[in-house]
Amino acid sequence: MLQGSGRTNLRITENGIAILELGSSDEHVVTLTRERMESLKAHVSEIKSKNPKGVVVIGPNESMFTAGADINLINSVTTAEEGAKMAQMGQEIFDELESLKCITVAAISGPCVGGGCELALACTHRLITSSPKSIIGLPETKLGIIPGFGGTQRLPRLIGLPGALDIILSGKTLRASKAKGIGLVDDIVSYDKLYDTALKVASGELKLSRRPISFVHKILTFTGIGRSIVKSQTEKLLKKQTKGFYPAPPTALKTAMYGLANGQRAGMKREADELGRMIVTPECKALVNLFFLTEASKGLGKSARGELKGLYGVVIGAGTMGAGIAQLLAQNDNRVILQDRNEEAVSKGIAYVKKNLSKISYLSETDRNLILNRIERAENDAPSLGSVNFAIEAVFEDMNLKKKILGDISKKIEPEAIVASNTSSLSVTEIASAIERPERVVGMHFFNPVPKMPLVEIIRGEKTSNKTIVLTSALSTKMGKYPIVVNDVPGFLVNRILFPYLNEAMFAVTDGYKIKDIDKAALKFGMPMGPIRLLDEVGLDVGGHVAEIMHKGYGERMAAPPLASQMDKAGRKGKKNSKGFYDFNGKEETPHPHIRSILNITKPEQDVTDYESLAQRLLFNMINEAVRCLDEEVAGAPGREAASQIDLGSVMGFGFPPFRGGVIFYAESLGAKKVLEILERLQTAHGARFTPWEGIKARAKAGASFYAG
Ligand code: NAD
Repeated sequence: MLQGSGRTNLRITENGIAILELGSSDEHVVTLTRERMESLKAHVSEIKSKNPKGVVVIGPNESMFTAGADINLINSVTTAEEGAKMAQMGQEIFDELESLKCITVAAISGPCVGGGCELALACTHRLITSSPKSIIGLPETKLGIIPGFGGTQRLPRLIGLPGALDIILSGKTLRASKAKGIGLVDDIVSYDKLYDTALKVASGELKLSRRPISFVHKILTFTGIGRSIVKSQTEKLLKKQTKGFYPAPPTALKTAMYGLANGQRAGMKREADELGRMIVTPECKALVNLFFLTEASKGLGKSARGELKGLYGVVIGAGTMGAGIAQLLAQNDNRVILQDRNEEAVSKGIAYVKKNLSKISYLSETDRNLILNRIERAENDAPSLGSVNFAIEAVFEDMNLKKKILGDISKKIEPEAIVASNTSSLSVTEIASAIERPERVVGMHFFNPVPKMPLVEIIRGEKTSNKTIVLTSALSTKMGKYPIVVNDVPGFLVNRILFPYLNEAMFAVTDGYKIKDIDKAALKFGMPMGPIRLLDEVGLDVGGHVAEIMHKGYGERMAAPPLASQMDKAGRKGKKNSKGFYDFNGKEETPHPHIRSILNITKPEQDVTDYESLAQRLLFNMINEAVRCLDEEVAGAPGREAASQIDLGSVMGFGFPPFRGGVIFYAESLGAKKVLEILERLQTAHGARFTPWEGIKARAKAGASFYAG
């Protein structure tokens, strides 16, 4: 019998039930590595030969069933044939499990996702614990692949096509009660009853009734007409959601449909082939890379997590950002004081938190009250804040104000407390100069809206200590964010690489391009929002102000036409007052008809003949600046460390298309030579701001990678 870490374990109880454990009790994460799949295969064969009364498949502990295929394995596949073979191997094991003559029960506690869910689908029954950590689903399409171990075939047959597609195409995972509601699991039990209940079910002593597929869903699943209705509706929805950039969801749809029309065996073959095709797509490689980056980011500050146990925070400034920060702190079990100039401002902040919490459907009324009770109120003249050990300010963007506020507060809280600023553009080093023990001062740049935006830039001032960086990173991950650690340069990392793109969009406006066309070029590249529309979102007052800071910080290459401030002066602040480059009336924004006259654009209006070229014009100075950041160590050591932070920052900070893997990943996919060629062409057409950065020239000459240190 195979034993030990990284493998499955098998034993037979006195009553003749085979217990197949997916890992050993010391394994916190069970993935389906090649080694584990091989031991699983051997054990399923052994079970078959021993002909037990029943089988229980169970994880090694309360927090783990299995997290699915090993992502390193997915990443290592280089040909479609290899990918298809890998899928076939998994399918064969699960087919054999499904074909056993006895009752098989998946006893699930903790994550049961991807290949783990497909394993459970091959069992007769699925039991799950009520723990919030117990989740089940098929997230493969989020990694650019499709379920390959039978998921596209078994799930529609178990719960009906509409429900299965809802899970497979969005890469969803479900908690216990939702999974039971749709018939994906048969019952929910507590962890202390899981094993015994599974034994009873496997032995036939306890019968479980499965939730039947509804009559309508049966028609939509098992008849040609029904499926064609589902297909046409789903295709429309997918087109809207993926905009044609993600091949995996439509492929999963076709595979599921094919299997229902041609039988499970034919479906399995198609599934393995399609998995092979998907696993080598650039989209899959980019999404897998991003997965690794998010995992690495989640690990930042891990060593300091224990120190956060007694965290007691104060947030100064109860506006949009401050209230959002206080909400997240409270939502993640921390006590926090929300402070502003007066009672009215604090109440406004609390009302904002209440409104946000009311929109979170998984919170009960009691949960909401508990969260709100963790937020205390204070005004600036509050006396000592005693045991507060973490302060974050989010007052107006004004250096003197920030220095004063943080200088005052740092005297009222614990002497070692971390003092953070949510500034979006001011020097953290200068803010720190006003505070005793500047090694505890750090930038913590959240993005708007705080509860939704996944990134936090942790800004290292000249004197910020490593301890401060580690604790702040730990707090960010505890708040559910992805931190990147960045040096204190104008615009930090995200705005520094974003502004060349926004600036270029404004240059294009002055050249006579229509704002809708400029935005369309960016959307066609895969950006979630065009640059002009984004300027409206940021606010033209704020945008103009940051553009000036960037110009001052980096000189002529960051100079922008003053469109944002012209708009601001004309009373058009962007979305916040419903008047920007676009008019925001009703559902859809429309380009303001008099933009050209407001901005005194004299060049004739231009039509776009080649959107790809226009997108290159918008995006290539972003790449140019990102490679500078790489070489100037703005976000860590040159090479993979900095490149990873820039990739993560660009995707999570402003939505650089995930399927392109981030700015540096995209540049790497083109190669330095091609990047240089395009920049030189843009330089000839539009001038010195496109001068290629030396590091790009050097890499092009040497044929070197952007990821090499
Ligand atoms: P906001 O205007 O919504 O809120 C600012 C709050 O600070 C107000 O409630 C105000 O009453 C309070 N305040 C001002 N002076 C104060 C004082 N002396 N004492 C106590 N409270 C005081 O602004 P915001 O959008 O929340 O921005 C706050 C900070 O966050 C700024 O530094 C901004 O640059 C930064 N930031 C903003 C965004 C964004 O998109 N809004 C994004 C990232 C960072």
